[in-house]
Amino acid sequence: MHKLVFATNNENKLKEVQALMPEHIKLLSLKDIDCFEDIPETQETIEGNAKQKAEYIKTNYGYDCFADDTGLEVEALQGAPGVYSARYAGPQRSAEDNMAKLLEELSDKNRRNAQFKTVIALSIGSEIHFFTGLCPGIITHEKFGNKGFGYDPIFKPNGYDQTFAQMDLSLKNEIGHRGKATAQLIDFFSN
Ligand code: IMP
Repeated sequence: MHKLVFATNNENKLKEVQALMPEHIKLLSLKDIDCFEDIPETQETIEGNAKQKAEYIKTNYGYDCFADDTGLEVEALQGAPGVYSARYAGPQRSAEDNMAKLLEELSDKNRRNAQFKTVIALSIGSEIHFFTGLCPGIITHEKFGNKGFGYDPIFKPNGYDQTFAQMDLSLKNEIGHRGKATAQLIDFFSN
């Protein structure tokens, strides 16, 4: 059994990743290790933020740890909001405000292609490993569904008629960015 900390305070991310973990990996949350502080994420790339969060826990708490950093990259906005997705509409980090701003920015655009990108950084022993998951799709014209979190109500993955917020967690995990990155993390421990 391998004990691994998932460095997130986001209950939705924890739920998604927990659902995929095999029995031989025991996932610990930040609460489980008595970590109640805000972990810094001050880098300018998704990879950099994931690494910073994982290494922060490894350095300060001593556990093998992984962290997820995710961004929504919109083609017509030259990849924005990208690494700034959480604070797109301001420091309040509101999903409703972020979606409203994105819909407004795209209101006169026909090209609505976007992708979610998740990078998982794993800090294990003295090594760091990266696993990346991408999910291409489009930004809808309005919100649909109330499952999931963040930008899920306005993101429709390619090949599906529903937004992530209309899908069951198991389908989002099967086709989504985080599920793909997590599958590579699990493979790492199986090999
Ligand atoms: P972070 O990885 O927690 O920094 O997330 C960046 C931003 O993307 C936040 O606004 C999240 O709510 C949003 N986000 C992260 N993962 C997802 C997802 O799977 N679906 C929709 N929004 C997400």
